[in-house]
Amino acid sequence: MRLSRYFLPILKETPKEAEIVSHRLMLRAGMIRQQAAGIYSWLPIGKRVLDKVCGIIREEQDRSGALELWMPTIQSADLWRESGRYDDYGKEMLRIQDRHERDLLFGPTNEEMITEIFRSYVRSYKDLPLNLYHIQWKFRDEVRPRFGVMRSREFLMKDAYSFDIDYGASQTAYHRMFVAYLRTFARMGLQAIPMRADTGPIGGKLSHEFIILASTGESQVYCHRDYLGLKVPGEDVDFSDAAALAGIVDTWTKPYAATDEMHDEAEWSQVAEADQLAARGIEVGHIFHFGTKYSEPMKAVVSGPDGKEVPVSMGSYGIGPSRLVAAIIEAFHDDNGIIWPKAVAPFDVGLINMKPGDADCDRACEDLYAQLGGRGLDVLYDDVDQRAGAKFATMDLIGLPLQVIVGPRGAKAGEAEIKIRASGERLTLPLDAIVNRVA
Ligand code: ATP
Ligand code: MG
Ligand code: MG
Ligand code: MG
Repeated sequence: MRLSRYFLPILKETPKEAEIVSHRLMLRAGMIRQQAAGIYSWLPIGKRVLDKVCGIIREEQDRSGALELWMPTIQSADLWRESGRYDDYGKEMLRIQDRHERDLLFGPTNEEMITEIFRSYVRSYKDLPLNLYHIQWKFRDEVRPRFGVMRSREFLMKDAYSFDIDYGASQTAYHRMFVAYLRTFARMGLQAIPMRADTGPIGGKLSHEFIILASTGESQVYCHRDYLGLKVPGEDVDFSDAAALAGIVDTWTKPYAATDEMHDEAEWSQVAEADQLAARGIEVGHIFHFGTKYSEPMKAVVSGPDGKEVPVSMGSYGIGPSRLVAAIIEAFHDDNGIIWPKAVAPFDVGLINMKPGDADCDRACEDLYAQLGGRGLDVLYDDVDQRAGAKFATMDLIGLPLQVIVGPRGAKAGEAEIKIRASGERLTLPLDAIVNRVA
């Protein structure tokens, strides 16, 4: 992509309305634009990051055996009347009427709709286990939308729903998602800690929030330092091996970890003081087993091996991709801007032509641009005639992992510079060595 053809509306001034660093940087780097309170457009470079985040989530959901579908944003109120949640949900739900005065709503979540789909087609235990997910915009009329896309009213959510014949099978479904989540966040460079979370009236132990430690987080959390050293399962994890999955979950739930609501002072005091980590955290995911809460009132039943009909045992599993983009920035930035982990970077490399119009510079850059692209790298080529300081500041702000800097003197001598954004380290190399080094 040539910067001269791109849409990258960088802001020079720090936006006053933004209270936290990720919000400031997303506005300054031209990633998002607020359209109304808590409602954002994703501009081209922001959209690229969001797509990368969704791509990782999708790969790990698919790997675990979940199946992607796509449900609409608008739902019928009648579905929610069946489950009894239409009245309970309160003001967070955006209620809409169409021209025929039928009650609709903009979905804040999809338990009812997925249960309706399930009951319409699935009759037998032989069709289980089943896990269906989608990545779709949600709307919640938050009392206090703030921190940009961290707590917005319209936001993207990956929500998965599992269906099983009984509690035991449902537990394995929960473990599958638990392990998929560990892998998902680790691939984004994040250390997400699964913390015991409230299960409400359902009870039991199967509810975890995945929390990223950050000083700007909205939750107060408590966990054992051991989490920082736990090894995340590799690609080869076998999602059909229930015992292996249970073992992983066991390892990852053994040390103390709880959010404020579930915090237990007595248990906490058993953790050696040097191992206690009390911090602020950001909820990036939440998994939840709720059994027959929806399948019973909505009559989602299957016949078991004995021919008897039973309501299916369900769980739901959420991740907030749009919140994650902000959370990643909270974790990876410095005074000059964002520092994207490679896996979610909007481009792999920024190629800076220090003097467009200079024959040596142009030739070297065009050549590098073509070769890097040929190696499958996404390159943002700064071919714009601007002063050096502004070019460097923009590249640092948008946070691409690597920069290749081509100046007139170097180009003439057959050299260019590579700068690693994270460390600031620079090295000068012959032009023909650059591509191998970067790719
Ligand atoms: P919170 O406690 O932050 O209000 P929640 O517990 O209400 O979140 P869930 O219903 O568990 O959220 O939704 C699953 C995921 O969706 C959350 O873990 C979070 O990543 C994301 N999410 C929820 N609300 C928002 C929001 N207002 N803006 C952005 N992402 C959100
Ligand atoms: Mg909420
Ligand atoms: Mg929450
Ligand atoms: Mg939650």
